[in-house]
Amino acid sequence: PVTSETLGFQAEVKQLLHLMIHSLYSNREIFLRELVSNASDACDKLRFEAIDNPDLYEGDTELRIRVDFDKAQGTITISDNGIGMSRDEAIANLGTIARSGTREFFSQLTGDRQKDAQLIGQFGVGFYSSFIVADKVSVLSRRAGLPETQAVLWESDGQGEFRVAQVEKADRGTAIVLHLRDAEDEFLNGWKLREVLRRYSDHISLPIQMLKEEWDAEKSEQVKTQEWETVNQASALWARQKSDVTDEQYKEFYKHIAHDFEDPLAWTHNRVEGRSEYTQLLYIPRRAPFDLWDREGRRGVKLYVKRVFIMDDAEQLLPSYLRFVKGVIDSADLPLNVSREILQESRDVKAIRDGCTKRVLSMLDDMAENRPDDYATFWEQFGQVLKEGVGEDFANRERIAKLLRFASTHNDSSVQNVSLADYVGRMKEGQEKIYYVTAESYAAAANSPHLEVFRKKGIEVLLLTDRVDEWMLSYLRDFEDKPLASVAKGGLDLDALADEEEKKHRAEVAESSKPLVERMQKALEGKVKEVRVTTRLVDSPACVVVDEHELSPHLQRLLRSAGQ
Ligand code: ADP
Ligand code: MG
Repeated sequence: PVTSETLGFQAEVKQLLHLMIHSLYSNREIFLRELVSNASDACDKLRFEAIDNPDLYEGDTELRIRVDFDKAQGTITISDNGIGMSRDEAIANLGTIARSGTREFFSQLTGDRQKDAQLIGQFGVGFYSSFIVADKVSVLSRRAGLPETQAVLWESDGQGEFRVAQVEKADRGTAIVLHLRDAEDEFLNGWKLREVLRRYSDHISLPIQMLKEEWDAEKSEQVKTQEWETVNQASALWARQKSDVTDEQYKEFYKHIAHDFEDPLAWTHNRVEGRSEYTQLLYIPRRAPFDLWDREGRRGVKLYVKRVFIMDDAEQLLPSYLRFVKGVIDSADLPLNVSREILQESRDVKAIRDGCTKRVLSMLDDMAENRPDDYATFWEQFGQVLKEGVGEDFANRERIAKLLRFASTHNDSSVQNVSLADYVGRMKEGQEKIYYVTAESYAAAANSPHLEVFRKKGIEVLLLTDRVDEWMLSYLRDFEDKPLASVAKGGLDLDALADEEEKKHRAEVAESSKPLVERMQKALEGKVKEVRVTTRLVDSPACVVVDEHELSPHLQRLLRSAGQ
């Protein structure tokens, strides 16, 4: 080694390592999935960079991943001929956690092993999962394009520090050597490794190779030959026929691309032909990521062109209100050297975006109709994001409106599970509008004095308490020709629902209250626009309302708190 230095892990890495080793032990074989997944990503990156710079291949274009083990040494080696890492990249990528949402993630840890294991899974375990089974990890890597003398050796026992040294490596790419803990001998076995690879990594589109084994009669055991054989299917999963892919394979593929630990809620896989030709494989996760509300947060759809990985995070492929969707789009029409700028202008991309939006909405329609429990999970996690679509996606507004769910006086619960169609189906005879109240909390909405008359008449009111609701309502004027109306705005035209006697009674009250109204008008001059007799209250003596076209008090408060 020319230069060698010892560096400390970022504090979060130390915390993560400690938690992971203790809470994910029962799932320890996932280390293999994570390392193979990284090797596959590294090959994707090389292929992409080589579009502009074919020299990076250094004469070796057969990208592959190899897994080997050494019983005597107690090691497993996972190697790839992908992009590799420079010294600085190794320090940054294997010593820190750069993902957005990291801080929130750590603030949510409870110390309860079970709960934290769930969280860690969600956060994505990645490279550090090696330390579940290894007490020492050595990473030998050379970035494609760098001279042989500028390879890096990164080593750590996962305790808090790592060492990096400059070394030589003839072939580009990365080799990771795991020095297994004493109790992990079961992985020093060709059969076991093949089994884990097939289970977790069959969907990887590159060949994963292991040395072929033969029966040695003398030793009476399997011995390795010098010949590499491919142990997975090694074809892009999304390019296979639907009937050739099992649910398990779809789920594992999801975990690979989404860096998720849990199964997805739903997926859709289609080959689209016509003006624009592409394959889509789109998933809905079970749980919101930490950076769902982060404007800079990563989008989850990977773009491929004819099987070649082009980019992660291509935000043009889906509208922002569907940013929770993960998956792959493989276009047959786009040029391989497509840039983000080209994507913005491209008509093919527009066709893909429209097509994918429709598919995702259909997938949600289907879930809402046939799997209400899953839809409830979806709504709880992503409902607020979907609501943005009402304002963002004019063309699909109706469809999105059908997918909305609200709390309502009908259920007397804060759970958002009433659709607008449910509401319309329960409307009273003569009722023309869909009534709602907005407030900062469920309790405030449910106890609003504006609801009194509705309760008395048995008319349902939707209780809207999410931050986006006011904004959404400014775009959602009606549903199935029924206007949406705030119970706190303007004069309530509940007359159609009143019987004759009630109408007569109202007229009498209005007449006899005239002097009182006049006195109050005078007393409140300059403070209110008008004092009116109302029939909307039952138990409360008075309430404040705003005109039909004015900002609601709730929205005024929101704007004020946002400094506007
Ligand atoms: P993630 O894959 O979610 O980015 P990981 O912890 O699995 O997180 O990996 C961290 C980073 O280390 C990767 O993003 C990548 O930059 C780098 N890395 C890991 N394995 C390899 C590899 N085999 N070749 C090149 N870079 C790698
Ligand atoms: Mg990874």
